[in-house]
Amino acid sequence: MKYFEKLLVANRGEIAIRIMRACRELDIETVAIYSTADKSALHVKYADEAFQVGEAHPSKSYLNMERIIDIAKKSGAEAVHPGYGFLAENAAFAKLCLDENITFVGPRWKTIKAMGSKIGSKQMMKENGVPVVPGTDGGIKDLEEAKKVAADIGYPVIVKASAGGGGIGMQIVADEKALEEAIAGSMRIAQSAFGDATVFIEKYLVQPRHIEFQVLADEHGNAVHLYERECSIQRRHQKLVEEAPSPIMTPELRERMADSALRVVKASDYSNAGTVEFLYSNGNYYFMEMNTRLQVEHTITECITGVDIVKQQLAIAAGESLAFGQDDLSIRGHAIECRINAEDPLNNFAADPGKIVRYRSPGGPGIRIDSGIHMGYTISPVYDSMISKLCAWDSTRKEAIMRMRRAISEYIILGVKTTLPLHFAIMNNQQYIEGNTHTHFLQEEHILSTLERYKRDEETRMQTLAGTFDQGKKIAAITAAVNTYLQQKKNG
Ligand code: ADP
Repeated sequence: MKYFEKLLVANRGEIAIRIMRACRELDIETVAIYSTADKSALHVKYADEAFQVGEAHPSKSYLNMERIIDIAKKSGAEAVHPGYGFLAENAAFAKLCLDENITFVGPRWKTIKAMGSKIGSKQMMKENGVPVVPGTDGGIKDLEEAKKVAADIGYPVIVKASAGGGGIGMQIVADEKALEEAIAGSMRIAQSAFGDATVFIEKYLVQPRHIEFQVLADEHGNAVHLYERECSIQRRHQKLVEEAPSPIMTPELRERMADSALRVVKASDYSNAGTVEFLYSNGNYYFMEMNTRLQVEHTITECITGVDIVKQQLAIAAGESLAFGQDDLSIRGHAIECRINAEDPLNNFAADPGKIVRYRSPGGPGIRIDSGIHMGYTISPVYDSMISKLCAWDSTRKEAIMRMRRAISEYIILGVKTTLPLHFAIMNNQQYIEGNTHTHFLQEEHILSTLERYKRDEETRMQTLAGTFDQGKKIAAITAAVNTYLQQKKNG
C-alpha cells in the first residue's frame, strides 16, 4: 500500500534525510526545501526534487509557511512532514495544510494547540488523574499570589514559560527574595521568544530523572506506547545523551507510567507519534509536557522495538489503522544515543560552527548514525550545531556502553570542537555505568572539570579528542589519544 505519491519535507539536516529515507523505502517521492545557506546540503541532494525556499534566516525560509505551501502545491506533494523544530509544533501551519488540502504528518492542529500550552496541558492531565508537578494552576497574575504558591510548595521553585521550549525562559528560584526578578526575567524572555509572556511556577525537583514515553495513536482510536526513554543527561535543560529503556525502570513503574501516558493520549484526542515527558523523583513521577512531534531521540526507540516510527507516522497520516497492538510489542536489548554537536563543552557548550575538514564516522554491528554532514561541509552559525546522532545498540546496557565507547574511539571529526570527548568521559563515568543519572549529572559528576583538568594537562591530546587539530594531522594521533585516555581511565 502506497501512503502517498509525493511528500514535502519541511525541514533540513539529519531529520530531513531520516524522513526521506523512510519515504524512499516506501516508494514515496520526496521534495526538499532549502535556504540559500543550504544550497549544497545533503538533504537537498537526497530528495527527488528540491526548491529554494528563501534566505538563510529561518524566519525567511524554514518558517515561511505560505512559501512552503506554495512549493508543496507547485510540486504536487500531497503531504508535508515537518520533522522537529521549525514548524513541527506550529498549530497554525498544521491548520494551513488542512485548509489547503495537504496532509500534515502529525497530530490534529487543535491537539497541537492545546498541548502547546504547558499550563493548559498540565491542567488537562490533572483532570484526568495524571500526576503533575505541584505549582500554580494557571499563569502568574500577581507577585503576591506567586509568593504564596511558592511558599506553599516550598523553595526551590522553577519559573517556566507556558509556551516554552528548548529550555528557554526557565529560571530556578532559591528563595522569595529572588522571585520577583526571576518572574520579570522569564516574562521578558517568553515574550520575545514565543510572543506570549505567560509564565507559571512549579516545584523545582532536586536531581530528578527525565523519563519520557513514546506513543503512537491512529485516527481510529487505537494507541500504543513504545516504552520509555531516559533523557536525564542534559546541558542547559537540553538533552545530550538518551537511552532506552531507562536503567531504573521496573515492570510496575512502567505499567503505571505507560498508563498515564496513554491517558494523556486519550484526553488530548491524540493521533500520530508523540512523546509524553515526565520527571521522576524519589519513586514519584509527574507529567511535564507532551511533545506533539517526532523527537530527535526517536532513534533509540526504533533500535529497541524494531518499529520504524517515521513509517508509522506516514501510515497514520494516510488514515491507516495501527497494524499492531500493545501485546505485539516488546523490548529487545538496550540503545544509547549521543548527540554529537559542534560545540565546546569547556566553554559553556558554546556553538563552534565551521568547516569539517576531516570526517570519518564509525560503523560495524549495532551502530546507527543519523547525520546531515560530510567532509568539507561547513556548519552554519544560523542553524543548530548538531553534527550527528550516534546510536549504539546491544543486548544489554553494559554492552551498549562498551559499543558506544568503541564507536566514539572510531569517530573522527576535525575542524570544529565537538561534544565527542565529553561523551567519551560520560561513557567511562562510574555513576553513568551504574545507571545513576539525573538532570544535574554533568554538574554533579564533575565531568566538565575533569575535562578542564585534562585540557590543562594534555592540551594536545584534548585538542585531538575535541577535534580541533589542524587539517593534515595524523588520524593515528587521534587513535593513540583515545587509547591513552582509555588506559588512563583503566588505571584510575
Ligand atoms: P522545554 O520545553 O523548554 O524543553 P521542559 O519542560 O521539557 O522544557 O523541561 C526541560 C528540562 O528542564 C527537564 O528535562 C528538566 O531537566 C528541567 N525541568 C523542567 N521542569 C523542572 C522541575 N519542575 N524540576 C526540576 N527540573 C525541571
